[in-house]
Amino acid sequence: MSIDRSWRFTYLNHTAERYLQQERQNLLGRHIWQCYPDLVDSGYYRIYQQTAATGLPGRHTDYYAPLDTWFEARSFAHDDGITVLFRDVTREHEHAAQLEFEASHDYLTGLPNRRKCVEALSHAVAEAASPGFTHGASLAVLFIDLDHFKEVNDAFGHAVGDELLRGFAKRLLAILKPDFFAARVGGDEFVLLLRDTTESAAEAFAHAVLSDLAIPFEACGRSISLSASIGIALLEEAPDSAEALLSRADTAMYAAKSSGRFQVRAYDGALDRGMRDRLALRMDIREAFAANQFELHFQPQVALADGSPIGAEALLRWRHPERGLLTPYAFLDVLLDSPYESILVEWLLNTVCQHIRAWRRSGVFVPRISLNLSARQLLGAGLADRILHIARAHDVSPAMLDIEVTEDSLVSDIEQATSVLAALKQVGIFTSLDDFGSGYSSLSYLVRLPIDTLKIDKSFVRARVDSEKASAVIRGIVGLARSLGMKTIAEGVECQSQAEELKDAGCDSIQGYLVSRPLDSEAFAEFMLRR
Ligand code: C2E
Ligand code: CA
Ligand code: CA
Repeated sequence: MSIDRSWRFTYLNHTAERYLQQERQNLLGRHIWQCYPDLVDSGYYRIYQQTAATGLPGRHTDYYAPLDTWFEARSFAHDDGITVLFRDVTREHEHAAQLEFEASHDYLTGLPNRRKCVEALSHAVAEAASPGFTHGASLAVLFIDLDHFKEVNDAFGHAVGDELLRGFAKRLLAILKPDFFAARVGGDEFVLLLRDTTESAAEAFAHAVLSDLAIPFEACGRSISLSASIGIALLEEAPDSAEALLSRADTAMYAAKSSGRFQVRAYDGALDRGMRDRLALRMDIREAFAANQFELHFQPQVALADGSPIGAEALLRWRHPERGLLTPYAFLDVLLDSPYESILVEWLLNTVCQHIRAWRRSGVFVPRISLNLSARQLLGAGLADRILHIARAHDVSPAMLDIEVTEDSLVSDIEQATSVLAALKQVGIFTSLDDFGSGYSSLSYLVRLPIDTLKIDKSFVRARVDSEKASAVIRGIVGLARSLGMKTIAEGVECQSQAEELKDAGCDSIQGYLVSRPLDSEAFAEFMLRR
């Protein structure tokens, strides 16, 4: 279209008629700003004015709502006034918007990605720092990490994994308040931003997310429930930053994970030190295997009937160069959460078999050694064959080995666990259920499990003195084990009266400080000789 120096239309082509939604004869000779008063002061208005005043070309792109179209207008000056060329740039614009969306969102779930998350957080932090922001209420960041998601992916395939992530994102959006914000910041990591909240409200919300997760997801025809670990960080007094908030929430999430998963933890300063220690431990563990710093101690087990030794439990120790002799509580969760988890199994089996052989050579007969395995160690591929292979290499009978597993490692995948236990039994390896009574203790699975011995948890033994009920539980467990054809051993037995009561209850054997503390290999051999 062309416009003269007094802003009257002098020319319009067909496309301009369509864009301006008016026929040519209705516009020619008329004043543009009187026909389109809404456009006064718009971007178009400014470039036309500018081109008319300076003679320089102008360019402006804008959304034009009546036609739901993006236009690019370019204005040129000439002797009679100005001419404007319009171009429909809707497709280009949508493409650019799509690119922007893709750069800031996660394609799988449609949630904002890490970049967008940091941006939104920075914005919220700046807003909270500005005057007039309500005090008392604050900003909370929740860092959510799905537990064992890698295993789910490995077991069921990536299609199922993707479906689960999408399902989780959908559930998150469904429970979020409108001005809250959710992002996917990594494979199985999500971040929520809660505004105007308090620590306890944020914690309550995190627990709601966890219970929501426990409801099974339908993915590719399977029903799978997830669990997660959630860390919470609250905005602190200025100066605080989005990155600092995120990293505090991340630290708290790690603490939640290491205190057993399916947990919520709020950040506090002590966690940072704990994290640094964990990192240092992780590094040290690498060295420890190479430098032979791990060793096994053996805690004797004796029959209650006559006090004769029936074997020992192998317990892991770490002779740390700076921190001295460490028990598993100081490092086991870090180790089991590292690539060394499976290496430990081979090391454990080889070391136990070497000791058995060395004792035998020096004339000490040890009937049986129990080893502790974590859930993942138990469910790792071909355990029975691996044990058999190592035992044969050391000329040790599989019947001299007893694998201790805990209830919670069984329930995570009861089918698989049952078949592993059956395979162990098949090749003559014994199995024990550790810490019995402290976990799920579901009778329905106990009946099906091929287990030789129930280890009565030390909490019942310890409670015995002051609790009638604990004593009833012990009798119950012993009766149950008998009817299922299992033996019983009580652990943590520290005094004679406990031993006597256990004997009365019909328990087969005991382990605990009363008999002996865990001993190093030589001391254990001496113990066996004396007995
Ligand atoms: P657990 O299997 O329940 O082992 C028994 C723990 O109770 C041992 O702690 C032992 O020293 C302690 N204990 C023994 N008698 C008594 C007593 O009379 N009173 C009290 N209060 N405690 C007693 P430890 O050696 O520190 O081991 C802790 C846990 O670490 C073990 O608990 C076991 O779950 C795990 N663990 C130990 N060695 C290994 C290993 O080689 N592999 C794996 N995966 N876990 C291990
Ligand atoms: Ca044990
Ligand atoms: Ca135990």
